[in-house]
Amino acid sequence: MTLLRDNPITLTVDLEQEGVQHGFMKLPHSHDASAWGSLMIPITVAKNSTGPTVLLTGGNHGDEYEGPLALFDLANQISGLDINGRVIIVPAMNLPAFRAAKRTSPLDGGNLNRLFPGKPDGTVTEKIADYFQRTLLPMADYVLDFHSGGQTLDFVPFCAAHVLENKSQQDQCVAAMRAFNAPYSIMLLEVDAVGMFDTAAEEMGKVFISTELGGGGAPQPQHVAVAKRGIVNLLKHVHVLEGEPDKTPTINLDMPDGRCYVSSESDGLFEPCVELGMRVKKGQTVARVFDPTRTGTRPVVYESPLDGIFIARHFPGLVKMGDIICVVAVEV
Ligand SMILES: [Zn+2]
Repeated sequence: MTLLRDNPITLTVDLEQEGVQHGFMKLPHSHDASAWGSLMIPITVAKNSTGPTVLLTGGNHGDEYEGPLALFDLANQISGLDINGRVIIVPAMNLPAFRAAKRTSPLDGGNLNRLFPGKPDGTVTEKIADYFQRTLLPMADYVLDFHSGGQTLDFVPFCAAHVLENKSQQDQCVAAMRAFNAPYSIMLLEVDAVGMFDTAAEEMGKVFISTELGGGGAPQPQHVAVAKRGIVNLLKHVHVLEGEPDKTPTINLDMPDGRCYVSSESDGLFEPCVELGMRVKKGQTVARVFDPTRTGTRPVVYESPLDGIFIARHFPGLVKMGDIICVVAVEV
């Protein structure tokens, strides 16, 4: 067995130092335009006293902006907050993807949220994953990773936890999700959890929550507001900030099985037939897909697989075969 190499990323901040520091995760990246250059991934660390460590991340996918907006804003505000503990803020985890406004990295095609645990001697994206896996995740007690629909999906604003084998860990994740207090709270069934940051954190025993807050690759003010409020609520829940989290009513959702996801079985022109957040009945038409190459053909009709709430849809007007076109979750 060969020992893992050290990760090439160095920090320009000291994670153990008291006070607020803004700096970079510096990843050497040699390329045509910069022989000895580095990727400079922004990081803020704020530490005071002995409370827990909270890791707040966004930009895991580069075309999802709602969480990053809240996190860049928090980094500016945090010196004015009276914290007890350590808050580590990385608003743009996959910086090359974020700068390119793409889900995946333009450098290596890497989808960061499918490449955990990463590799210290792998691609750029694998090196970023490895740094979170072996350096930042182990020091965190609580992890909040922001997602939203990006360019291809749109979601009702929800905070999510997962069903876990360890039920006391699951209970803590659910409590954190409820404290975040998004308009919707969901026990999220992932399409494929292998390689996700979520899975890496959960397997390490961390209290982990994530979000989906709108989408379409264009942030809406109400979704950014949910992200900002949710951060403060979580920090209060874990006593890094004083006070009680908001207790605005949330709609609790569950996803019993894979039927919740409806995929398109053809390429074509996508007609969503219900609005996000609407209650739907099993068998109700939720979408139609037209063949754009000819007139006089009937659209393919997609029905709701369950009684529930229409929580997500394909965003662009054209779909490809295999795309998720809608997601229905069950109200509990
Ligand atoms: Zn995402």
